Amino acid sequence: MSSFEFDDIGPLKTLELYFPRSGFKAIVVIDNVSLGPSIGGVRVSRDLTIEEVKRLARTMTMKNSVAGLPHGGGKAGIVADPTSAEKEKYFRLFARAIKDMDEYIPGPDMGSNEECMAWIYDEIKRAVGLPEEIGGLPLDKLGATGFGLSECAEVACLYAGISLRGAKVAIQGFGSVGKATARFLSEKGAVLVAVSDTKGTIYNLDGIDVGELITVKEETGSVINYKRGSVMSCDDLFTTPCEILIPAATPDVINKENVNRLRARLIIQGANIPVTIEAERILHEKGIISVPDFIANAGGVIMAAMEYARKSEKEAFSAISERIKKNTGLILEKTFKEKILPRQAAEEIARERVLRAMRYRGDI
Ligand code: NAD
Repeated sequence: MSSFEFDDIGPLKTLELYFPRSGFKAIVVIDNVSLGPSIGGVRVSRDLTIEEVKRLARTMTMKNSVAGLPHGGGKAGIVADPTSAEKEKYFRLFARAIKDMDEYIPGPDMGSNEECMAWIYDEIKRAVGLPEEIGGLPLDKLGATGFGLSECAEVACLYAGISLRGAKVAIQGFGSVGKATARFLSEKGAVLVAVSDTKGTIYNLDGIDVGELITVKEETGSVINYKRGSVMSCDDLFTTPCEILIPAATPDVINKENVNRLRARLIIQGANIPVTIEAERILHEKGIISVPDFIANAGGVIMAAMEYARKSEKEAFSAISERIKKNTGLILEKTFKEKILPRQAAEEIARERVLRAMRYRGDI
């Protein structure tokens, strides 16, 4: 989305909070609350801008809406060094400043984690992504987002004419999302053939043992130390022969430079914005399905919303499965019927739901 002041959805509020004695500032953007109180992460970074937080808050509106959650979209940023020794103080001061802003529920994001959410919860009794000990569902440990990606792949394979059992899979990134995705996909019979991290790519067309690769990554720090495979460069991951490609690390990695060299027949977007808009158009013209990030990687926020509603781990997993499968089918049906990009189909569905809710609430 290009830079904007506001449109027919939001934002409702943008706030800059200054903490002069402690020497930091924070930004809160509440984009839309017609579906319910907004949920969105607290990002900690030294160079955050209001524009960036606005874009992230809008993404949360779309993601929460299309996932059918009773939550709007919001986002916050603490403009400070994420490794600062003063982190707890920043979070507690930030929490006190947003105490009465009950239309915003903070969650973890880049630079924050469950401990930070515990500090906020301790101050104002309002946060998601909490530690297990105080009622949280540990979404990274449970692999909520990776599970959702594997459920999405199951449905998308039907539209791409691929049998998931035996399908060759390549994954960029082997952190929380990449590892869980590999684990759940291999349980469904898919074969992991290539995985990359910042050090390089490990490749074996006969299949990589997921459990063993997780141990190698945890013990040695990189997937390239897995013995039964060839080591290639990070970029080679994208051109390895496979049926399903899952970018689960950084933005814009599939772009006009490499899109025509991809050999996958289906792309499931695990990271946020891993495919440029231009590359999405080219993939669409070539008949390669690319399921957009905010449909495919919604498992984490669905689990966070279930935690907020005090649901169990089992209920959270079944909500992720049901919602992601239904939405993947819905947007791919619309894509084929209306001959539009999957992202456009997803945005239209998300936007319509928000606008309908705004009408019920007399916001129009
Ligand atoms: P993480 O930090 O746990 O893991 C990131 C992995 O990517 C690491 O293995 C790292 O080595 C690898 N990586 C980084 N740069 C790379 C590069 N250039 N080439 C290859 N590998 C590279 O992060 P995560 O929680 O797994 O999140 C991954 C992405 O998914 C991020 O974009 C995040 O915003 C997005 N996301 C995460 C969640 C979640 O639940 N954690 C939910 C939605 C979206």
